[in-house]
Amino acid sequence: MNKHSTDFNQIVLDLPRQVDTEVAGDIEKESVFVSPWIERIKVNEDRSSVNVELRPGANVEEVAGKARRYLDVMAKQLSGFEIKVFIETKRKDTGPYQLGVNEGLIERGWMHDYGKGQVAYSGPVLKLARLINERSGELYAQAFGAKDGHFPAMVDADTLQKCGYFDSHPNAVTFLGNVVEDIDALEEFRVANSCSEGAILPPHEHIHVDGMCLNPAACFPCYPTLTGKTFADGAAYSWLGRVFRYESRNINGLDRLYEFNVRELVFVGSEDYVRSCRAKALPIVEDARQPDRHRLHGADGDDPFFATVSAAKKFWQAAQEVKNEIKIPALSSDGSVKQLACGSINLHGNFFGKRFGFNDGAGEPAQTGCVGLGIERWVLAAFTQHGFDERRWPESVREKLFG
Ligand code: AMP
Ligand code: ZN
Repeated sequence: MNKHSTDFNQIVLDLPRQVDTEVAGDIEKESVFVSPWIERIKVNEDRSSVNVELRPGANVEEVAGKARRYLDVMAKQLSGFEIKVFIETKRKDTGPYQLGVNEGLIERGWMHDYGKGQVAYSGPVLKLARLINERSGELYAQAFGAKDGHFPAMVDADTLQKCGYFDSHPNAVTFLGNVVEDIDALEEFRVANSCSEGAILPPHEHIHVDGMCLNPAACFPCYPTLTGKTFADGAAYSWLGRVFRYESRNINGLDRLYEFNVRELVFVGSEDYVRSCRAKALPIVEDARQPDRHRLHGADGDDPFFATVSAAKKFWQAAQEVKNEIKIPALSSDGSVKQLACGSINLHGNFFGKRFGFNDGAGEPAQTGCVGLGIERWVLAAFTQHGFDERRWPESVREKLFG
């Protein structure tokens, strides 16, 4: 990899190989975590080199070194592979895809964007989010006997470490901080803010991080509750989880939030039980939008959302078929159609059974699997497919959302 040219704002680096478009997209997206001095990395049209845009004052050699290491890893790890499509559905709404859904929802007063990856919503957006959540919960109860539960939004660092999250996604973690239990530090903080314009944060040395985090994957808080249990017949749990992922500058409306909601389903038991649940889950997710089965779509034969259930992008996941993704067509900001990952179906083997100490009927660490549906992404996909004219929405849903 050679550095071709250097000027104040930009350097060009060769990639070790030509990458496919998906890897190119990942390189651009994840580049926000490479260095605070990098404004962004843009893959050039030939996909064999990149432009690294630097912020003023950057140490070019040092930043280029980080960028090179990053590009080496990305180009190697995420080699392209064939996407295996399990189920694909044709869209029946013949109207155009709706561009600018986020802006449209805000204009109508149905959504408020706080600007940092959090949204408030009400009206048809809230009704649709609830419908998706409740309907999937009902289907899971019918198919797997899954009982509804509740788990906290905070999780301790030891649990995340045990779940392997710091190994796989150190960039997405959020630690919580408190002002130290010290009368002077507390007084300083109080006085500083009593008549300030805008918040004045305590200095670093007055913030105490004790290892509480915001939960970054819906299923994690479930595993500590299984410790010491035996799952002879297999069990399924389902709940609505609140999930937080630090996405840095990649936040973007309902598409990429810092705080979002996931309808989660976890299976625990023998390998056969978990694999059979996974096999059953694919058509159930498909069922979730069948007109005669799914209240969202009514009996009018309309087929509002959805699209493709495909293998996920990471090569090893595809090879071992441990992760499948549910993709729904939506629009990029430039109007081109993209496949939005709205859910995932995962097999974990006995990883969590071993780490958290719960067994199957044979006394071996139990296997687990999970299905997570990203509620806000489904809402975004549905509005992209049906737009804002309520007459385009299936009749039964129309009444529920807009009536
Ligand atoms: P994962 O555990 O990564 O498979 O995520 C589960 C689901 O959460 C994904 O399929 C998405 O639908 C949704 N999701 C993941 N990240 C975000 C995000 N930053 N904003 C909104 N939804 C997300
Ligand atoms: Zn999960």
